[in-house]
Amino acid sequence: MKNDAAPLDVTHLIHHPYTPPADFEAPQPGVFKASTVYFPSVAAMRQREWKDKSAYTYGLHGTPTSYLLEERLCALEGGLQCVLVPSGLSALSTVALATLQTGDEVLLPDNAYGPNKALAEGELKAFGITHQFYDPLNPADLAARITPRTRLVWLEAPGSVSMEFPDLLALLRICREKRVLCALDNTWGAGLAFKPFDLLGDGQWGVDISAHALTKYPSGGGDVLMGSIITRDPALHLKIKLCHMRLGLGVGANDVEAVLRSLPSIGIRYQAQDHSARALAQWWSEQPQCAQVLHPAWPGSPGHAHWQALCAPQGSIGCAAGLFSVMIAERYSQTQVDAFCDRLKLFKIGYSWGGPVSLVVPYNIRAMRQAWPAHLAPGTLVRFSMGLEAVADLQSDLSQALAATLMD
Ligand SMILES: *Cc1c(COP(=O)(O)O)cnc(C)c1O
Repeated sequence: MKNDAAPLDVTHLIHHPYTPPADFEAPQPGVFKASTVYFPSVAAMRQREWKDKSAYTYGLHGTPTSYLLEERLCALEGGLQCVLVPSGLSALSTVALATLQTGDEVLLPDNAYGPNKALAEGELKAFGITHQFYDPLNPADLAARITPRTRLVWLEAPGSVSMEFPDLLALLRICREKRVLCALDNTWGAGLAFKPFDLLGDGQWGVDISAHALTKYPSGGGDVLMGSIITRDPALHLKIKLCHMRLGLGVGANDVEAVLRSLPSIGIRYQAQDHSARALAQWWSEQPQCAQVLHPAWPGSPGHAHWQALCAPQGSIGCAAGLFSVMIAERYSQTQVDAFCDRLKLFKIGYSWGGPVSLVVPYNIRAMRQAWPAHLAPGTLVRFSMGLEAVADLQSDLSQALAATLMD
C-alpha cells in the first residue's frame, strides 16, 4: 500500500497563494464583511454569476475571506470545491438534504457520530427517507444492505466514540461497484491522517464527499463552530451549493478569520495531540482497571490493521487524532466511573475535541448501538480527547483520580 504524500506535510497549506491588496505585501489575509455587494449597473447585476465564484454578488454567497478559507480547506483535504456551513453537524445534514429525497435510503455505520444517526431517525424519516445501520467492520454487511433505493452511504474512520477503524477502501469499492454516493465524515482524519480523495496515492480511490467539523482541528481553539463539505465533482458540488443557498446557510467572517489563523498550525497541533494520546493509551493499558484500550494505532484495537494500512504506510509510526477511549472493567459501577471523571482536574468534562484543553466524557454504549458489539470488552466506556497540556501532568491527573475512585 502506498501513501506518497507525507501526512503532516502542510507546507503547501502555509504557502497557499493569497493576493494582498496593492502595496500591502502581508501574508495574513484580509477580513471582508458584507451583506450587500454593489454592482456598477443593472446589466452587470444580471450578468454576474454567483455559483462558480467568478464574481461576488451577495455576502451569503461568499466574500474574498470565505473563498480563501474554502480554497485552503480544499488544499488540506485534496478536494476541488468547498462549501462552508455553520457547524460540523450542518455539514452532515446539508449533504443529506442535497442528495436524498422521499423514497431514498441512507446507510450509516453503527458507530456513526450520534447526531447523524438522530438526523436519520428524525427529519429524514419524517421526509420519507429510510435508513439502515451497517457494521463498519464488516464490508459484506454494507454490501448486503445496499438496494436500488440506497442513494447515500456514510463512512466514518474511526467511529468517534468506540474508535473502530473500518476498511475504508473496501467500503469505498462496494459503493463504487453499486454506484452509490459515498460521503465520509472526515473530522478525525482532518486531511492529515490520510487523503480522503486519494486513499492509495494513485489518484484512483477517493470518496465523493468529505464532510468536516472545522470546530475540531481546523479551529483548534475551542471557540468556533463551523463545517465544510468538500467534493471533486463539479455537478455534485453544484447540487450541494444550490441546496446550501436555498437553506440560507452562512458563516460569520470573524469565525472564518479564526479558522484561517489556526490552519497553519494544524499539523503540529495534530501531531502533538497524537503523541499525548498514544502515551496515555499506553499508560492506560498498564492499569488493572482498564479492560480495553480503544485507539486505532493501538495493536489489538478494533480495526487497527486497517488504520495501519491507511495511516501508517511502510511501517511508519503513522498519524492519528488525539482521541481515544478506555473500557473501564465491568466490576466498576457507572457511579464509580462517573466519580472518576468528576475527580479529574485537568481533564474537563465536556464535548468536542481538537482544542487546547483535555476533555473527558463517559458514554453509554448500550444506548448508542443496535447491540453490544462483540469486539468491545464489557464495561463502561470513557473517552478522552487530548488538549495541549504536558503529557506528564495529564498522566498524574489520571493517576490521582484513579487512586481516589477506582481502587480494587
Ligand atoms: C464534532 C463532530 C461533528 C459535529 O461538529 P459540530 O461542529 O459540533 O456540529 C461531526 N462529526 C464528528 C465526527 C464530530 O466529532
